[in-house]
Amino acid sequence: MSFSAIKGQNKPLEILKAYIDNARLEGGYLFTGAEGIGKKMTALALAKRLNCLEGKLDSCGHCASCLKIDNNQHPDVHMILDEEPQIKIEVIRQLQKEINLKAYEGEFKVFIIDNAHTLTAEASNSLLKILEEPPKKSLIILITDKPNLLFKTVISRCKILKFLALKRETLEEILKKDYSLDTGYAHFLAYFSEGRLGRALKLKDEDIITKKNMLIDKLILSSQPNLESLAQGARADIRNSLNLLVTWFRDIYLLKTGVAEEEVINSDRKVDLARSLSRFSFLDLDSILGNITSAIAYLDQNVNTRLILYNLRMEIWKA
Ligand SMILES: [Zn+2]
Repeated sequence: MSFSAIKGQNKPLEILKAYIDNARLEGGYLFTGAEGIGKKMTALALAKRLNCLEGKLDSCGHCASCLKIDNNQHPDVHMILDEEPQIKIEVIRQLQKEINLKAYEGEFKVFIIDNAHTLTAEASNSLLKILEEPPKKSLIILITDKPNLLFKTVISRCKILKFLALKRETLEEILKKDYSLDTGYAHFLAYFSEGRLGRALKLKDEDIITKKNMLIDKLILSSQPNLESLAQGARADIRNSLNLLVTWFRDIYLLKTGVAEEEVINSDRKVDLARSLSRFSFLDLDSILGNITSAIAYLDQNVNTRLILYNLRMEIWKA
């Protein structure tokens, strides 16, 4: 991934390019914004751009340095993931050792700390000391979608770059043009990912549209909807499935109010949507959408999932 391949994040990219051009790129950076929006992608693109052996304005993508970073094998570029629930002080102590060594083969030492809000208090204090006097030609990039959980002192030592979600139309165009998706799929992903390109691509890799249409066929259009079958999955998967069901009932609601067809999320199922319009009244739909939202909230409260889904089915198909 190079800078030019990152779509829709012009503002943070311009800021980074200006820092590079003025040779002022050093110390701590904080990338904030929703999950799946391109923060990590940008951090890696930056590491590549700074260490590329061939590219002048952007990374080339094929030199030894670019390839090593792509394969997570570059000795000067470190990705720190929160594999445990928290990032512990030992990890930051190791970072401190590494950052004070000369770069092995690259121009810049880059440390990317994903989910930086999971740093323990001890780890944060230790990191703060490094950020107060960062060695030359080194970068520490903190990535988080929950910046308010970071120590204020840590934030104050970082330059902050905000990543914003894309407009739905913009993301739809990117998905069609750069990822060769058909209009229906691009349209659905742009909505369901809430304008987050990274999220949209992850959903595409999971073949979300097949999953969505299977849910609609088996759980909504079937004469014997078996919502409880979802209970076998993890809570996160059930939440995802219920969010997919929300899109369906939301579409029916909006179509009944007479909105333009472009506003429909499930535009690949227009015929089935049209057939469903007379089946539900506005009151039904209000109640169904409310019940699904409550069910999603119950999922977060450790209530028995089978019971939640059973109750939901009874509420939705009581008529
Ligand atoms: Zn390169």
